[in-house]
Amino acid sequence: MKFARRVEQLPPYLFVEISRKIAEKRAKGEKVISFAIGDPDIPTPSNIVKRLCQAAHDPKNHRYPETDGLPELRRVIADWYRKRFEVSLDPDKEVLPLIGSKEGIGHAALCFLDPGDVALVPDPGYPVYSIGTMLVGGQPYYMPLLEQNDFLPDLDGVPFDVVRRAKVMWINYPNNPTGAVAEPEFFEKAIHFAKKHGLAILHDGPYSDVTYDDYKPISFLQIPGARDVGIEFHSCSKTYNMTGWRIGMAVGNAEMINALMRVKSNLDSGVFQAVQYAAIEALTGPQNCIAEHNAIYQRRRDKLVAVLNDLGLSFRPPRAGLYIWARVPEGYTSVSFTSRLLDETAVAVTPGTGYGPNGEGYVRLSLTLPDADLEEGVARLKAWRESSRATPVKQTKRS
Ligand SMILES: *Cc1c(COP(=O)(O)O)cnc(C)c1O
Repeated sequence: MKFARRVEQLPPYLFVEISRKIAEKRAKGEKVISFAIGDPDIPTPSNIVKRLCQAAHDPKNHRYPETDGLPELRRVIADWYRKRFEVSLDPDKEVLPLIGSKEGIGHAALCFLDPGDVALVPDPGYPVYSIGTMLVGGQPYYMPLLEQNDFLPDLDGVPFDVVRRAKVMWINYPNNPTGAVAEPEFFEKAIHFAKKHGLAILHDGPYSDVTYDDYKPISFLQIPGARDVGIEFHSCSKTYNMTGWRIGMAVGNAEMINALMRVKSNLDSGVFQAVQYAAIEALTGPQNCIAEHNAIYQRRRDKLVAVLNDLGLSFRPPRAGLYIWARVPEGYTSVSFTSRLLDETAVAVTPGTGYGPNGEGYVRLSLTLPDADLEEGVARLKAWRESSRATPVKQTKRS
């Protein structure tokens, strides 16, 4: 059988070896503690589940939904943006529900890129930006997110011949995987850059409400001029622990929203209406679940921070998002550190290279594992630190 080149060119799955080791350990009955999964472990709040159940019983929700979603949902999304960010949106032209934001992020490539066009993507970054680009024959240009630049891309550092061929720039703050956040000045700079070079900005912001220490991220759309050049992807997944439900949204520039809607209307048939009603409940119902979940993640973050410091990993405690992005000790690569940790402690983390070439030297630890597992993971790391086996790690000075 012959497959399309776009499929054959998909990058190989990087962590075959590590996944194999995890599977082997589990097959032997060993308990692997995984900090590698970025998917909230806390259940969806019960008012939302209840609303889904009600809506699922109504036969009118059993039929094809409209691609652009229920008008009521679009209105609720616009209201939520007004309340949360003081951004006003036209619910009929500037709001589009998605089957999870990943769906819209993937399809966006079809709207903006012809074969050979360049998309500027963050490196490290959420893999869908670059893979979506490659699937339509475009070329990702990896903008390094370096610690010394606070994990913000250096826009002036993008070579001129690349900028000339670029159609879009992806940005994502609060950032996965680095945990970095962006201040308004960065967004202003990005908008100026996009206007100067005729680019569209695609901002991905699913972690705007997963925050710690009273930090409150802004929306890209709060910045003057944002709507002239860009859209923002958001989602119920991380805010309301609804990753499995598949519902997100794109908001902003009406022409860009319309292009995405036209592509989608030819490829999918929208979001199950019962899930749309559940999203309405999520966005309009009690919001105290957000602070409650964040308090849980923050406690987990603080426990993990203490032991990682002891292990000689250097990192900045995140103010938002679900991850700690940590530099591995001297003498290790992302993969060699991950492998050794797994072999000796049965604790799994994600090697940074899974998020792009500039992820080398880092690992990502997720906060989305149950407290008891997290405690056990922390205890294993402590024991590892104290055992002679961890000596090379112990000797490493923190940078
Ligand atoms: C989790 C995540 C998403 C995807 O969310 P869905 O709405 O569940 O598809 C998008 N972008 C980033 C950076 C994420 O981490």
